[in-house]
Amino acid sequence: MKFFKKSDDMQQGFIIEDLRQKVSAAAMPHPVQTIAEQELELLTRISPSAAEFTIGITYIDYLVSLPWNKRTEDTVDIVLAERILNENHYGLDRIKERIMEHLAIKVLMMNRKPRILIVDDEEIARKNLSHILAKEQYEVTAVADGEQAIREMESSDFDVLLTDLRMGRIDGMDLLERARTRFPETRVIVITGYASVPSAIEAIKKGAFHYIAKPFKLDEVRDTLKRALEQRSLKPSTKGSVLCFAGPPGTGKTSLGRSIAKALNRTFTRIALGGLKDEADIRGHRRTYVGAKPGRVIEEIRRVASSNPVIMLDELDKIGRDFKGDPASALLEVLDPEQNRSFTDHYLDVPFDLSSVMFILTANMLDTVPAPLRDRMEIIEFSGYTQEEKARIAEKFLCPKQIREKGLSSRQVAFTEPALGAIIQDYTREAGIRSLERRIATICRKIARESLKDHSSAEIVTVSPAAVEQYLGKKKYHFDVIEEKDRVGVATGLVRTETGGEIIFIESARMKGTKELIITGSLGDVMRESAQAALSYIRSNAASFNIPEDFFELHDIHIHVPSGAIQKDGPSAGITILTSLASLLTGRPARRDVAMTGEITLTGRILPVGGIQEKVLAARRARVRTVLVPARNRADVEELSVDVKKGIDILLVDSVAEVLDAALVRNP
Ligand code: ADP
Repeated sequence: MKFFKKSDDMQQGFIIEDLRQKVSAAAMPHPVQTIAEQELELLTRISPSAAEFTIGITYIDYLVSLPWNKRTEDTVDIVLAERILNENHYGLDRIKERIMEHLAIKVLMMNRKPRILIVDDEEIARKNLSHILAKEQYEVTAVADGEQAIREMESSDFDVLLTDLRMGRIDGMDLLERARTRFPETRVIVITGYASVPSAIEAIKKGAFHYIAKPFKLDEVRDTLKRALEQRSLKPSTKGSVLCFAGPPGTGKTSLGRSIAKALNRTFTRIALGGLKDEADIRGHRRTYVGAKPGRVIEEIRRVASSNPVIMLDELDKIGRDFKGDPASALLEVLDPEQNRSFTDHYLDVPFDLSSVMFILTANMLDTVPAPLRDRMEIIEFSGYTQEEKARIAEKFLCPKQIREKGLSSRQVAFTEPALGAIIQDYTREAGIRSLERRIATICRKIARESLKDHSSAEIVTVSPAAVEQYLGKKKYHFDVIEEKDRVGVATGLVRTETGGEIIFIESARMKGTKELIITGSLGDVMRESAQAALSYIRSNAASFNIPEDFFELHDIHIHVPSGAIQKDGPSAGITILTSLASLLTGRPARRDVAMTGEITLTGRILPVGGIQEKVLAARRARVRTVLVPARNRADVEELSVDVKKGIDILLVDSVAEVLDAALVRNP
């Protein structure tokens, strides 16, 4: 018995000693190291067979494995960064431009040395202090009087002003007051002579951060400066501090995120927010039981072994449904520069500085994102590619990649331009290029198999439209817009969904009944209300539509939107519902190749809607000829590139009459 006890003791001592060495090698911040040492001390007094011992050991082991001080050096070369974004992505010019601007500012801010302005009329004091602080990695400017100091502060932004109190023209106290009112963000430290503590106290009353007495002790200067800077850095601007890429799947959000990391020379990792169920998935579990774990953010940082990675938080809009706790506030702790400097994961129980992590959020739709989060984001919209862009991306990136990945070479396989066009038009219907990539992969896989079978790999396989049909089967999509006839009661609408712009057909029917309005097709509340509003508008203007007065008394109306599996909502189907009803009740067929989007009010005003580019792209995919857009979306239409608008007529509409004039076939 005794023997075993002794061996246990030895083992315990060994484990603890091992951890002690790791703790001192882990380069933790001082307070964290102290806590780790205290924990270790506690463990020496716990039996190794107790659960607490295992929990404690696991915890300290985790602490030492975090990259407290490990980080990658940022590339500050903005030209190189731009080249990397361009090399990996075709098009997206406006998006790349916004990203480059964001990066430039971010890199400048993150790598900016703290700026100190020294004001002292004694040259020796000025020189000494400048010399010392410059060695400590501060950017130092020194001037001899208050006037010059104000001029310096007008021309650049200083973090700390270190000023002597007794000087010539403007004395330190004056300077302090002027600096506090004009540059409130700059912390002021005053330097006083031995005997002037009362004036130092007065200075603090007037808003100085602290004072240093002359002759200064180096440690005191260092320490005071550090504290002043800490206070200052708690107040960085929070607006737009996190990039958010919003748009349909397959539009290059993730791959641009990767390129940003590469351009900055940082590691990259993703967290799928859609998969999180609980606040503890973000903030960690308290360390009270054996299986307790830190949250995903800390865990990813540990996994990539760097304290400044690029972390992409995917699917922001998928979070929330059956999530336990408040996801927005947990995320704010992670993202908000005012809070994330001392992010405390419940498992770690000590702060970990997330301020140099670069977070990028992604979302398909932003409608459900809470306002406090949205405030912190700089939103960049990815709205999808045109047919031509897709063909270029396929040719330059997707085909070469799939050919390579399937063990073939570009000497063996060539996709013709018409074949790419056929894959895009007949086998995919999407804003992004995910299915396109999958279809190309399928073709390459089949070619690879054939090349093994008939050993004729020396010959080049040319993929033509006929070959596409042979590899992928009959075409998957038909053009229900141009391939079908105009009908009474069926109007073509454009909506935005998670997968980008979509075309929908809204159908109305009438039957004998008692004034009822039936609405079917998985419509959300907002869309149902649009339907009510459209019907009320028509009823209140029945005479102008030549509808008999008692018509509504004697009939039911049914509005239906097919493809019931897709949940549809939003106000932008208003004018489409109106057109469908007007067509039904006037007997004039609605033109199938005229697609529309726009909200309608009870009085027939047409209000602007979102997602214009996505919708126009969807219209082009479906080969619609004319698109009706609210006149108040004029600016969005003007922003569309020539490519997006090619082959399509966009009409800006301001009234119901204009909509119906364009959408309904003239009375035969
Ligand atoms: P998302 O994150 O928006 O769903 P991804 O970044 O995963 O989309 O993109 C899907 C695929 O398409 C990836 O292989 C990506 O490299 C490629 N891709 C997307 N946009 C472009 C582009 N503009 N140029 C080149 N490749 C692209």
